[in-house]
Amino acid sequence: MFQTHKEIQAAIGSGQTDLKSLVTTYLTNIESNRHLNAFLEVYGEEAMARAAELDGKTTGRGRLYGMVIAIKDNICYRGHKVSAGSRILEGFESIYSSTVVERLLAEDAIIIGRLNCDEFAMGSSNENSAYGPVLNARDNSRVPGGSSGGSAVAVQADMCLVSLGSDTGGSIRQPASFCGVVGFKPTYGRVSRWGLIAYASSFDQIGPLSHSVEDSALVMEIMAGADEYDSTASSKPVPSYSTEKFEKKARIAVLKNTVDHQGINTEVRSETERIIAKLKSEGHTIEEVNFDLTDYLIPVYYVLSTAEASSNLARFDGVHYGYRSPRATEMDSVYKLSRTEGFGREVKNRIMLGTFVLSAGYYDAYYSRAQKVRRMLSEQISEIFRSYDFILLPTAPSIAFKLGEKTSDPTEMYLADIYTVLANLVGVPAISLPLAKSAEGLPIGIQLMAEKHEDAKLFGFSKTLMQWSTLYP
Ligand code: GLN
Repeated sequence: MFQTHKEIQAAIGSGQTDLKSLVTTYLTNIESNRHLNAFLEVYGEEAMARAAELDGKTTGRGRLYGMVIAIKDNICYRGHKVSAGSRILEGFESIYSSTVVERLLAEDAIIIGRLNCDEFAMGSSNENSAYGPVLNARDNSRVPGGSSGGSAVAVQADMCLVSLGSDTGGSIRQPASFCGVVGFKPTYGRVSRWGLIAYASSFDQIGPLSHSVEDSALVMEIMAGADEYDSTASSKPVPSYSTEKFEKKARIAVLKNTVDHQGINTEVRSETERIIAKLKSEGHTIEEVNFDLTDYLIPVYYVLSTAEASSNLARFDGVHYGYRSPRATEMDSVYKLSRTEGFGREVKNRIMLGTFVLSAGYYDAYYSRAQKVRRMLSEQISEIFRSYDFILLPTAPSIAFKLGEKTSDPTEMYLADIYTVLANLVGVPAISLPLAKSAEGLPIGIQLMAEKHEDAKLFGFSKTLMQWSTLYP
């Protein structure tokens, strides 16, 4: 199977393949991997028709010509269903397309289907989807990570070349780490959120997953930039991420209490240390820096993200969108029964937690204190970026765990996000690179972060590091 857009371009150029046979290959792969439950819907006929049309386009081809992409089920695509992995949106069809989808299509990408995910992007294992869990293609008894589990597995098992996910607290990077692919979370505001079903609006970003850094960079280049429909989308010019290089010696910070955290799996720790040693031996400067807020990351993230979620999810009321309980009789029961029956357990937990932290009596104790810690985190991280180019962390504290292993203990599950939520709390770009694996051969991701709007620099350095990937010789 092709692993990069460049290989596909070459194969098209030499006449070795055309888009119809390319799409056919992906569709066959999707069919033979049905058991992984990565796709909620495959746009088979539509993708074939588009391939045929694009095969006939001999001039003025877009930059994503021949790129087959699948999208997470919380990204709107006009005339197509979108459910955010929830019963409450079952059968709902988008009446407009997200900005990212519009931009990809304008560059001749082919969208092949929509991908399973945790309900409303809440989860770290894809076990919270109303449509069943996704299985890790490397070992079917293990989770793919979440919430963009379908997005990671679709790339891992070559069911598309690139996928889109969304990352509120790690949902692109952690599944990328568990599945051995590249996952990129942009600077907050770099990519328009128009047409993304909101979870926590001050954290959410759409981003790509792929085998190569170059492909994620290229897709970012197309998606990023100002958008009149999203006032938080930055109007800074978009650099050429795909050609960016970083060939200097880097200055890299490792945060105290992260790699040496008590909750980290021993193989993840030793592999991270191996990468650190390798960076040193290549002449990069790697230093440990003080950071004493590690234990606050998860609590602050869950206070703030659930607060935002409780407000964002108020619109699913049985009236505006999707599911309405057939048992409802008057206004009150329309709300209560539709939400009770339509939302899954984790979503309800979070709506209640978010409502609680925003309630008059507890607002100061939780919400406003968490906001203060968020500000402190931003200040500390900016301070670090004054002296360093990058921060290096593991992506997740463990390798892909077994299905069911953490479902009984939400706190255990929430700890899966300990290294990823930081980037969302402070809005910086972060990438997970498949640089290592466990003795059993399970992927281990290494995470790099850069200062806000240094996405290009992060891509540049990531390309250098990917030469060391043990997964893709
Ligand atoms: N696992 C985290 C959560 O459940 C992150 C989710 C995400 O990034 N969408 O909130």
